[in-house]
Amino acid sequence: MVRPKVYVTRIIPEPGLSLLKEAGLEIDLHESKEEPPSREELIEHVRDKDALLCLLTDKIDAEVMDAAPNLKVISTYSVGFDHIDVKEATKRGIYVGHTPGVLTEAVAEFTWALLLAITRNVVKADKLIREGEWNKPWNPFFMVGPELMGKTLGIIGLGRIGKAVAEKAVAFKMKVIYYDVYRDEEFEKKYGVEYRPLDEVLREADFVSLHVPLLPETRHMIGERELKLMKPTAYLINTARGAVVDTDALVRALKEGWIAGAALDVFEQEPLPPDHPLTKLDNVVLAPHIASATIEARSKMAELAAKNIIAVLRGEDPPALVNPEVKKVRPLSQVKML
Ligand code: NAD
Repeated sequence: MVRPKVYVTRIIPEPGLSLLKEAGLEIDLHESKEEPPSREELIEHVRDKDALLCLLTDKIDAEVMDAAPNLKVISTYSVGFDHIDVKEATKRGIYVGHTPGVLTEAVAEFTWALLLAITRNVVKADKLIREGEWNKPWNPFFMVGPELMGKTLGIIGLGRIGKAVAEKAVAFKMKVIYYDVYRDEEFEKKYGVEYRPLDEVLREADFVSLHVPLLPETRHMIGERELKLMKPTAYLINTARGAVVDTDALVRALKEGWIAGAALDVFEQEPLPPDHPLTKLDNVVLAPHIASATIEARSKMAELAAKNIIAVLRGEDPPALVNPEVKKVRPLSQVKML
């Protein structure tokens, strides 16, 4: 039997590569922990491959797929798959896998880290001491921020991560409202969470946290109109995708006081340039896309990304398939190589 070939676009944590090796795949690894392959390298290396394990920094479009006529499976080391043209993959009978679930708690925990950091001035306070500015005695008005207890958290996108964020709000004794295209009445009952149309979530919430995928319908879902609906005392938290928010409108909202502040892990342009207008504002906390960065999550993501590839090449259902409709185009029996 011919050994299937996989191109892995970055060094990933264990057990990712070991699983691929043990399953009998021939690995072509882009030997870097930090730098993605260039577009040319990506296209060159994917040419003769049966599988591709990519990251969210790799744009996988029709051109890449056309360069790889043997490609049977694309597995991304992320839950978001907005960097992959899934429609084009399905058309070509290419299975697309991702890593949902295993990073849910990591992202939810970081969402709370950002919410607490922006409201309680954690970053500003640390900076102040390091810069030698803690030079006045204790005072009752210094660095005050809002308490969470009794306040309203508005969740936009009550999926895996949105739900994990909502569950943690119970411990802070907060009221939770949400907007989603689907209602989950069982979850509403269990956690006392209430559904609202989008505009009402924006009007009512003291903290708005975004957890929708980036889709054509969610691109710039939060723009000038939406930011103006929010309370001037409210905060926006974004750990979803940068383009869910219109950045220019957000900068104006933060400068002109339409909202009190924002804490962001994701940006329309990544890496965020150091001279970006957001970096000049002191009512914002910025993080370099690290919401899933726990040791546990990053290792489980590698395991799941590898298992998606191995399953498809064994002609089995992958544990996390983005495009189940692909099976009608090319059944699993036709991609079996292991
Ligand atoms: P999920 O699919 O479980 O949840 C997404 C929710 O959004 C679903 O309930 C869905 O119904 C809802 N939704 C979809 N379109 C909508 C719309 N137009 N309006 C309202 N709701 C809509 O996904 P998840 O695992 O919770 O992940 C959510 C997103 O978080 C991912 O797509 C990814 O982009 C992002 N993410 C970011 C990081 C990070 O490092 N910052 C890590 C993991 C995931």
